[in-house]
Amino acid sequence: MGVVSMKGGDGEHSYANNSEAQKSITSDAKPEVMKSVNEMIVKMDFPGCIKVADLGCSSGENTFLVMSEIVNTIITTYQQNGQNLPEIDCCLNDLPENDFNTTFKLIPSFHEKLKMNVKGNCYVSGCPGSFYTRLFPSKSLHFVHSSFCLHWLSKVPDGLEENKKNVYLRSPCPPNLYESYWNQFKKDFSMFLRMRAEETMPSGRMALTLVGRKTLDPLSKECFKDWSLVSDSLLDLVSEVLTTVTLLNFFGNLKVLIVVIIIYWRSILSVQGVVKESDLESFNLPYYSPDESEVKEVIENEGSFEIKNFETIFGLLFSYKTGHSEVKDDDDDVDHSRRFEVVKTRANMTRSIIEPMLVAHFGEAIIDRLFDKYIYHACQRYDTLRNKPTVNFFVSLTRK
Ligand code: SAH
Repeated sequence: MGVVSMKGGDGEHSYANNSEAQKSITSDAKPEVMKSVNEMIVKMDFPGCIKVADLGCSSGENTFLVMSEIVNTIITTYQQNGQNLPEIDCCLNDLPENDFNTTFKLIPSFHEKLKMNVKGNCYVSGCPGSFYTRLFPSKSLHFVHSSFCLHWLSKVPDGLEENKKNVYLRSPCPPNLYESYWNQFKKDFSMFLRMRAEETMPSGRMALTLVGRKTLDPLSKECFKDWSLVSDSLLDLVSEVLTTVTLLNFFGNLKVLIVVIIIYWRSILSVQGVVKESDLESFNLPYYSPDESEVKEVIENEGSFEIKNFETIFGLLFSYKTGHSEVKDDDDDVDHSRRFEVVKTRANMTRSIIEPMLVAHFGEAIIDRLFDKYIYHACQRYDTLRNKPTVNFFVSLTRK
């Protein structure tokens, strides 16, 4: 598949304009990130140059919000300890398909956010490549940050042929489908840790935020409601084709007319964007939301990093509210126009994340209609969806 990059640019459906929810979870994790930067500096005895990497920076300002916190924490720590300020190397990584240009345009405003005395000493560079491979020289990194990335797998797992009507795991789910996803996550996350272990200095730190799931039993619940809305919306577009086929069969005697209609219909398919059943059946997301024990198991088995802190941050699917304990949207009498706005915002966010993947598989033409369907389904299920917590893990690690 290879197209897990988010939607670039700064348009209505871009990641840059639809990543408030990720921003707000990341800002909940900020105090822990700052704490681990501070501990790393003291432990390493105030190095003269500090190399920081944000892995999976995407396009837009989220990466700089984190980077400016990290850089300002570095400066404050040096100042409070009467040390000469270091040079700081900020490396922004993402896949080569990522829209780095949109991100790089924000470098001047990033420099504006920095404490005055570091501006000339802080260097930003881009590092395209997969974080499941080596990206940096051996033992060169002091601090690695990554948010909302590690639930993206290096590829769609093998063995998902039975997963025909869903784009991800969904209850009831045969155990072998879950095993396929879990095995791929294990392989990928171990590889990520091994690569970073080679690149990170002894006592170097990593701060990782990723989407997870609460349940210990992956088969008992839908792991991520958003993806079931996408599955149902794709199914709607498939059934529109099937209805047309049934109608054509019904008028089977009128052979010539049917040939004409089929030719006409094919061109409608490509223009209007309906989905072929076989295309839906062969589409699965390269995504996995692990539970806490799975994340810990992979880190412990790989063995290069020690877990310093592990926290769960809850969010809401249809709100930007986040918190360390489960949050609730108390706004009970949300009127229907407001409900529509909330759902539309969520639809845009989902779209900004998976549009490139959908376009690569189904073509551009289905996208607008697919997200109309998404909005319809989300409005229908609003009352059950809106207080469903999303689960996010923050993990702070030290290189042994
Ligand atoms: N960190 C940002 C962006 C998260 S979006 C934030 O918190 O808002 C997830 C990003 O991970 C995407 O830009 C995607 O391209 C990137 N990504 C996914 N798999 C990757 C891989 N194997 N290597 C590098 N980047 C990857």
